[in-house]
Amino acid sequence: RFNQTDAKKEKTTFGNLKDEDRIFTNLYGRHDWRLKGAKSRGDWYKTREIMDKGIEWIQKEITTSGLRGRGGAGFPTGMKWSFMNRPDDGRPKYLVVNADEGEPGTCKDREIMRHDPHKLIEGCLIAGKAMGARAAYIYIRGEFYYEASNMNAAIKEAYDAGLIGKNACNSGYDFDVYMHRGAGAYICGEETALIESLEGKQGKPRLKPPFPADVGVFGCPTTVNNVETIAVAPTICRRGGEWFAQFGRDRNRGTKLFNISGHVNNPCTVEEEMSVPLKDLIERHAGGVRGGWDNLLAIIPGGSSVPLLPKSICDDVLMDFDALVQAQSGLGTAAIIVMNKQADVVRCISRLIDFYKHESCGQCTPCREGVHWMKKMMTRFVTGNAKVEEIDMLWEISKQIEGHSICALGDGAAWPVQGLIRHFRPLLEQRFKDYEKSQELQQSAQTI
Ligand code: SF4
Repeated sequence: RFNQTDAKKEKTTFGNLKDEDRIFTNLYGRHDWRLKGAKSRGDWYKTREIMDKGIEWIQKEITTSGLRGRGGAGFPTGMKWSFMNRPDDGRPKYLVVNADEGEPGTCKDREIMRHDPHKLIEGCLIAGKAMGARAAYIYIRGEFYYEASNMNAAIKEAYDAGLIGKNACNSGYDFDVYMHRGAGAYICGEETALIESLEGKQGKPRLKPPFPADVGVFGCPTTVNNVETIAVAPTICRRGGEWFAQFGRDRNRGTKLFNISGHVNNPCTVEEEMSVPLKDLIERHAGGVRGGWDNLLAIIPGGSSVPLLPKSICDDVLMDFDALVQAQSGLGTAAIIVMNKQADVVRCISRLIDFYKHESCGQCTPCREGVHWMKKMMTRFVTGNAKVEEIDMLWEISKQIEGHSICALGDGAAWPVQGLIRHFRPLLEQRFKDYEKSQELQQSAQTI
């Protein structure tokens, strides 16, 4: 059980971020996303001075900020960028921005690209400088048509204003930004599948090692970062790593975008302090659970790839990497999917497994076969036409997938099922008993 006291040992309250401390101001005011509007909100301010401070300084600020990757894995960003500090072997280095946001419930990067494209472009330049890259590829989800068109327009504005391209921001550093639109496969959000796709091949994950920092896109050293991770970098450099680190608690620093969807009164995307209590986040920003907090059944706290949590845990859990791992779930993409008591949780999880079955690239057996079997069983669990012993069988299948596949999609499919069994076993058993009883009644009615 999650221990709230341990989690709060540094600070007693989290959340209630002030507007002046929000990085993505555009999400609130719906200001003009074009260059003029972006500059009026502080984007591209003293970018050249930041670049002049050099690679070491930028990496140090990012490390001090405690920023962890916002795409789901939560790897420390400063450390990831430092992997690019390598002797020059003649190969160019690349920054790749993962904008292939396809996780169910997740739409935070979409909001950034719609409303704050210049933050991402400026972030590409600063991050690129920090790792010695001369070009960034933004790999955007194929379905994000409007976001791609805003991004393209913003990139053109940045080129025309001399902010990127030759001698970017008059810094003497040449830097290009390219957009690449995906074709709709969820698996291309996995960094090595994304690299394959960018190279024009089928988007299938690669075995690691070698890691992208050694052999990435076009065989060159590459860092793949999520949109939000890159878009917050300029503000961190301008306001200082320590400013960012004042939010949240140890190992879980900064502000963060949260998507809140499902059975809430006001589904939204909101920027809040890391470690904000889940309940506060929903009640303050999403208008509360439909039917009231007591009508809550369960929440998936981090996109569809993490285990769901029942209400008893949601009552006091904090929204950060460590608290959610302690609660046997994960922060993932910080997309909160709320289910109230009117939801059929078994059907919801079955639908998610259907998604993973459809999106599995099929190259490794535990994922390809295991997810298929999980889907078959979940379909019967939905009707109740299953035996109680099969619950353990489904658990075993999920354990055979977890940690036994090339990429994290297998884990992402196994964990929601494990969460369902861990917290809702009595509900499943009751469902099977009810089905059996209804069959017996039907049979006896036929006999009469
Ligand atoms: Fe493909 Fe699934 Fe294996 Fe990932 S885990 S490489 S999606 S088969």
